[in-house]
Amino acid sequence: MNTKEMKKEKYIGCHLSSAKGFAAMGKDAVSIGANTFAFFTRNPRGGKAKEIDVKDAENLLAIMEEYQFGKLVAHAPYTLNPCSATEKTREFAYMAMKEDMERMEYLPGNYYNFHPGSHVGQGVEKGIEMIADLLNRIVTPGQSTVILLETMAGKGSEIGGSFRELAAVIDRVKYGEKIGVCLDTCHVSDGGYDIVENLDGVLEEFDRIIGLDRLKALHVNDSRNPRGARKDRHAPIGEGFIGTEAILQVVNHPALIGLPCILETPQPDLSGYAREIELLRNSVPAEAHF
Ligand code: FE
Ligand code: FE
Ligand code: ZN
Repeated sequence: MNTKEMKKEKYIGCHLSSAKGFAAMGKDAVSIGANTFAFFTRNPRGGKAKEIDVKDAENLLAIMEEYQFGKLVAHAPYTLNPCSATEKTREFAYMAMKEDMERMEYLPGNYYNFHPGSHVGQGVEKGIEMIADLLNRIVTPGQSTVILLETMAGKGSEIGGSFRELAAVIDRVKYGEKIGVCLDTCHVSDGGYDIVENLDGVLEEFDRIIGLDRLKALHVNDSRNPRGARKDRHAPIGEGFIGTEAILQVVNHPALIGLPCILETPQPDLSGYAREIELLRNSVPAEAHF
């Protein structure tokens, strides 16, 4: 591969607090060398979303344009459970995601990531059906947002701990071009995939089962636990079982470069993210062999 011709921009950022609004996140991102970021669309524990400040959204779009940001990866509250056994809980997930889709149109053309949910004993099949049903009620052909299912650690009865489960959901969704996947390095390692010794093999499997064209974003985290632990506890880059070298292989992989890379590592402040962003940004692309 000719690396000069193939050179793609790296989009690297982290999860930011939305407490001060959209433009404030854009400024925070710029201040730490980020050119993408993630944020919760509302309180992560659920609840009502703040009224959209249209001017604030426009100010963020201007910052993104000026600094040539990649796509943002908004995150749904992680407490939503689209495959809960309780209808009320499922309806809340529907209501929140439906409303989030409308709100995302103020920042058109970005990504909206969600955790597929936990089937809580109803069985994987039933869970997959419920998630697909919810997406089929939410996704419209005219929306500019692409919804991403996150690869999960497979903790408890979580759906999405394997590529097969995600593929089974995606296969059932009507407007498939509005659906993609966000790969979380901590989660896939916890789910048993060996991204340290066999990244190419894992990506080949992803391609065979889901299709690499569906992979739209990365969550870049080290893991506090060994591969297969199904625990989902993130570690700062280099302080977990994945390690700096393997993480840099992921963000520089020829099949993945150009995707928004979002750090969700435990960091006490923005300067911690600034250091991790610099580490990821200045790392050199690996030899192309995929
Ligand atoms: Fe997540
Ligand atoms: Fe994640
Ligand atoms: Zn996680």
